[in-house]
Amino acid sequence: MSATLIDGKAFAATVREKVAGHVARLKEEHDVTPGLAVVLVGEDPASQVYVRSKGKMTVEVGMNSYEYKLDADTSEADLLALIDKLNKDADVHGILVQLPLPGHLDEDLVINAIDPAKDVDGFHISNVGLLGTGQKSMVPCTPLGSLMMLRDHHGSLSGMNAVVIGRSNIVGKPMAQLLLGDSCTVTIAHSRTKDLADVVRRADIVVAAVGRPEMVPGDWIKQGATVIDVGINRIDAPEKGTNEDGSVKTRLVGDCHFESCAARAGAITPVPGGVGPMTIACLLANTVTACCRANGLAEPEGLTA
Ligand code: NAP
Repeated sequence: MSATLIDGKAFAATVREKVAGHVARLKEEHDVTPGLAVVLVGEDPASQVYVRSKGKMTVEVGMNSYEYKLDADTSEADLLALIDKLNKDADVHGILVQLPLPGHLDEDLVINAIDPAKDVDGFHISNVGLLGTGQKSMVPCTPLGSLMMLRDHHGSLSGMNAVVIGRSNIVGKPMAQLLLGDSCTVTIAHSRTKDLADVVRRADIVVAAVGRPEMVPGDWIKQGATVIDVGINRIDAPEKGTNEDGSVKTRLVGDCHFESCAARAGAITPVPGGVGPMTIACLLANTVTACCRANGLAEPEGLTA
């Protein structure tokens, strides 16, 4: 491997430390404690794990954590009533509704019911519009974390060719907006893109957010390019043996084939330990930012786009 490893786990720890420092100052100098409310509807096992670790890390940086676990058959009216209550609660600075929601609930309606100033996931239509027009917004956590790592590695991104593979509302599109905001020349690729390999080969920065295990091979990567692998995919790992129930053990891989991409890239994020840990760190950063804005205080530096 010739590429520099961009260590998201270590970077996320420094972001959380910065957040903890700001939280301590907010408490000491302004008697304010940032609060994050996380709402989980239903019992999706992956969502339960995410919500648990979000709550744990929120408390670890000194913020207040409020968890709301609702039954899978909760009505839309009841969920909207809870969001309304949290919108009005001055102790709650950030609200996150864990996605996906059960099928009978309209995700757009629910997300757009959150006060945009408390929308720490950055999915509210107002925040999408503010980001798209280059105005102060709440920025989605995964793209924000990816941008922080790119800025840290490169300093300025101005003039670089960036290719984002994936056009989802939660990763691909906001990532492209952020890179454009940092004056990259941005291409967004997706499942209908022709000659994807050629498109990717032109990139100084590749952000892969597809959800297809190891889809990007090393020979798509321009020599020295920076690769940010957002993908989190679980694949069978027979080399690790079997579980007690006889099923094959699994492992996590990204959207990029790590070894071959690392052989050509200048820098690359691993999976796991790359973008993943940055996502929760940025959620905490967004909550501090929201708290500062709500109280008319200066925003923490280096924690926003
Ligand atoms: P998504 O909503 O399913 O979007 C996937 C995108 O990939 C779509 O735009 C799709 O194109 C495109 N795509 C699919 N097949 C393709 C192909 N063969 N060639 C080029 N593009 C293709 O996924 P997402 O929510 O953005 O998530 C993407 C990945 O990131 C997943 O692995 C997810 O687990 C991971 N993720 C990680 C974090 C983290 O914290 N690290 C956070 C969020 C997501 P079309 O639009 O044309 O269908």
